[in-house]
Amino acid sequence: MIRKAIRYSVIQNILQYYECPETCRAECCRNGRVHIFEDEFRVLTEEDKERTQNIGKDSLVPDLYVINNPCSFLSKSNRCEIYDKRPTVCGMYPFKVNSSGTSLGLQPCPLGFMIIQDLSSWVMDTISKLCIPDDVKSKKLEEWKTTLGSYAREVSEFHIRDTVNEMQIPFDELDMLSMYLFSKHTVKQGK
Ligand code: SF4
Ligand code: SF4
Repeated sequence: MIRKAIRYSVIQNILQYYECPETCRAECCRNGRVHIFEDEFRVLTEEDKERTQNIGKDSLVPDLYVINNPCSFLSKSNRCEIYDKRPTVCGMYPFKVNSSGTSLGLQPCPLGFMIIQDLSSWVMDTISKLCIPDDVKSKKLEEWKTTLGSYAREVSEFHIRDTVNEMQIPFDELDMLSMYLFSKHTVKQGK
């Protein structure tokens, strides 16, 4: 139910086209505070009780648990050792739930920035085809270039900043990004 509400399957459709760069040392698992649900906590406990010692109840949201960093299920080679059973939050990162109920946040980590670049390409391509006055079109394209530049600056050391400027993506744009990536990769494979 929750996964449907947060467009989990659309996120998986998007993430299938990306791989985290080797240069990232799984900073999300190493430095993030990962929130999980009670049933997910139970799954991890069944998996390895010893390693759930660094998971505690969230002090602000009673129904949630927090994996304190670094996550004890992260291997020395920066792999998730419970990948097939990883919590929802882990499976959707760098997308993150926000309180709007109509959009998702996208963190500007190295992987998130790759997605932001593709989203920008799609939006700018769409804008360039619009039947609108040239000056309006140029202004919109410039705004997107500036937006992209601002996220590029966020990528460096995003994991040690207290706050990051995450991109908010409305659900309908998320759907369109998924379709854009599908068609882009289908064309590339010559299907
Ligand atoms: S999701 Fe982002 S922070 Fe996590 S390993 Fe991939 S690139 Fe690094
Ligand atoms: S459970 Fe796996 S994916 Fe989630 S934080 Fe831990 S190592 Fe990372």
